Amino acid sequence: MSASSFSSLPLSEAMLANLDSLDYKEMTQIQAESLPQILRGEDIIAQAKTGSGKTAAFGIALLEKLNVRFFGVQALVLCPTRELADQVAKELRRLARLTHNVKILTLCGGVSIGPQIGSLERGAHIVVGTPGRIVDHIRKGTLQLGTINQLVLDEADRMLDMGFADDIDTVLAACNENRQTLLFSATYPDNIKKISARCQKNPQMIEVETIHDQQQIEQHFYELRESDETHPAVLTLLAHFHPVSSIAFCNTKQGCDDLLNYLRDEGVSALALHGDMEQKERDQVLVRFSNKSCSVLIATDVAARGIDIKGLDAVINVDLARDSEVHVHRIGRTGRAGESGLALNLVVQKEVHKINRLEDYMGQSINLEALPHGDKKSLPSPNMVTLNIDGGKKDKLRPGDIIGALTKDAGLPFEKIGKIDMFDFAAYVAVDSSIARAALKQLSDGKLKGRKFRARKL
Ligand code: ADP
Ligand code: MG
Repeated sequence: MSASSFSSLPLSEAMLANLDSLDYKEMTQIQAESLPQILRGEDIIAQAKTGSGKTAAFGIALLEKLNVRFFGVQALVLCPTRELADQVAKELRRLARLTHNVKILTLCGGVSIGPQIGSLERGAHIVVGTPGRIVDHIRKGTLQLGTINQLVLDEADRMLDMGFADDIDTVLAACNENRQTLLFSATYPDNIKKISARCQKNPQMIEVETIHDQQQIEQHFYELRESDETHPAVLTLLAHFHPVSSIAFCNTKQGCDDLLNYLRDEGVSALALHGDMEQKERDQVLVRFSNKSCSVLIATDVAARGIDIKGLDAVINVDLARDSEVHVHRIGRTGRAGESGLALNLVVQKEVHKINRLEDYMGQSINLEALPHGDKKSLPSPNMVTLNIDGGKKDKLRPGDIIGALTKDAGLPFEKIGKIDMFDFAAYVAVDSSIARAALKQLSDGKLKGRKFRARKL
């Protein structure tokens, strides 16, 4: 039995059997370092990267502590968005598969409140929700939190960035004081320290791999005199380094829009991601960026957090992050496994004080450089084009149907077909621009699964 095997923990037979059937062979690092404390009932602050298995780290403990015979809410998980709440609820249900009658309820905004009230009346053990809607239920008196034993703040930094601080306070005030509070966050800025001080007792701080190995990321800092030099500087860096996929971080939404307009005017294929975009728009931006039909993704930290984009050729900090931890988090998105990444930072003279803080934080000295030379004639431009089909999983479409139509029906070469993304009611296929026209014709004129669908180029 290895130290990181789940069976080294005091877990029920049913839980161990289920973990085994889920093929969770070993604990991830954050699980190994946090689960023993969490199971002992201690408060923790855990800081770890996306995809490190944080949900199971608290989920296993929530389920193990549950008294299934008592139909009151015993645990509450707060998440920043509906999408994340759904993901957490899904993982909890997987973890609860072999335990009978566990009721897990999601309470998020964007859907009517009536059915949620009905579900609450029938009883729920664990509630997962977004702060705004949870507060609505508290105010209506439809959700009682006096019986909860465990409160989880998942992606707490993001909840604060999204302006949920007051709602979180309202929730805290409604919760049983004798509870365990678990706080998960990708970064650990001051406002998280303050929230922790208000709601936790002697929290243990657990940090896993947030500071990236500096050797693996080549960082450059370019000094600019004025802030109006930043847009041309981004263009110069794109021309010089030629990254196939890069993310450009700005500190404001307005900054993102301005850069987007500038790069588009210069002929660069760029898209911006906003925190307040509709789900469908967001999906499309991420699809086009991840399938390589768009070169530059422009985003604020809020918009980019919680999304799985890594292994990029370059991260460009158009504005330096206000916080050193955020800086490190941003640049962690460059570099594929085993390969070194590239972080390009623009520093306007009046921001030089941020450099001193970064030097302290990273424990290394920073050289300010002059911009390299870049020929605007050689800007990165994507080879792929995204085609959008107005049918998806709910229409029983599968990636194989699309590949079949393109290769068998239209006789197009398989190697020219890129990533396929399937959603409930939409599918996206990336194709090499050389076959885009023929592929679009096939998808619009031909059939998939014996049916006609509409298709268009994005
Ligand atoms: P985070 O919240 O840290 O971003 P998640 O909790 O969403 O990450 O987990 C990422 C993925 O890893 C999920 O698909 C989850 O099912 C899987 N996972 C979690 N723990 C384990 C484990 N011990 N072994 C194998 N897979 C795991
Ligand atoms: Mg998570």
